[in-house]
Amino acid sequence: MAAFAIGDAMIDSALELEMPGIPITALGANGALVEAHRAWLAPHFLEPGDLWRLNFRSWIVKIGDKIVVVDPCTGNGRPNPIPLFDRLDIPFLERFEATGTRVEDVDYVFCTHMHYDHCGWNTMLRDGRWVPTFPNARYVFARRELDRWHPDRVARYRRVAYNDGVYERSIAPVVAAGLAELVLDGHAILPNLHVEPGPGHTHGHSMLRLVTGGAEAMFSGDAFHHPLQLIEPTLHFGDYDDGEAIVATRRRLVEESLTRDMLIIPAHLPHPHAGRMKRSAAGLRFEPA
Ligand SMILES: [Zn+2]
Repeated sequence: MAAFAIGDAMIDSALELEMPGIPITALGANGALVEAHRAWLAPHFLEPGDLWRLNFRSWIVKIGDKIVVVDPCTGNGRPNPIPLFDRLDIPFLERFEATGTRVEDVDYVFCTHMHYDHCGWNTMLRDGRWVPTFPNARYVFARRELDRWHPDRVARYRRVAYNDGVYERSIAPVVAAGLAELVLDGHAILPNLHVEPGPGHTHGHSMLRLVTGGAEAMFSGDAFHHPLQLIEPTLHFGDYDDGEAIVATRRRLVEESLTRDMLIIPAHLPHPHAGRMKRSAAGLRFEPA
């Protein structure tokens, strides 16, 4: 996709893979809700046959002379019980570097949460060892999220089979290399880029707020997977740690987008990958950017 500007920042991205053909019924939405919003859902978020698709994509944020990578996808060569993600062999780093950014140039890596598809390329396999992919970056992790997945504490939480081994492959090597920065809510990665809580999908799920040149955007990770979940926040897709918290996170995103024209940039939205909430006489809708 083409890079776009938000204020003084340039936003680019690298695609790992797509998951097409998901029935809209997977959201648990009733037919009336889909019909009421069909006009704006199509064509991006409702395809022929009432299907939709997910993107798996990393965001690359360039502000001044700093480069921040958000949610480095799944990574190659890792076992995964979900066949689409099992032992990937995808030229992701080639696609990443085709955006004009070398892995050595990255200053910060931020993971909204520690599911396999948001921290995989934190590391890569070299001579049989997992080593940091971005050797000169500080990796910014929310302390709450790291606590949720740390091997000493993970047994206290809901078991997530598809995430087995992810901490060991994608987080621990970064910590061991001294590149991890464990941060609290509100942490400023850069003066105009702040880590914020966005709990629910996972306990420590966090988001990244960019405010620059009079514009505002939120990298919302997996706070929602389909825009219908912003219209009806109790609709779920897949599993989650805390159903009440994720509903509150979605309501906050909607409110902030409406009141401040904030762009919402999730991890998995298909083209055009981002959008804003709008309210008109016809009701609430998510307008693709
Ligand atoms: Zn995800």
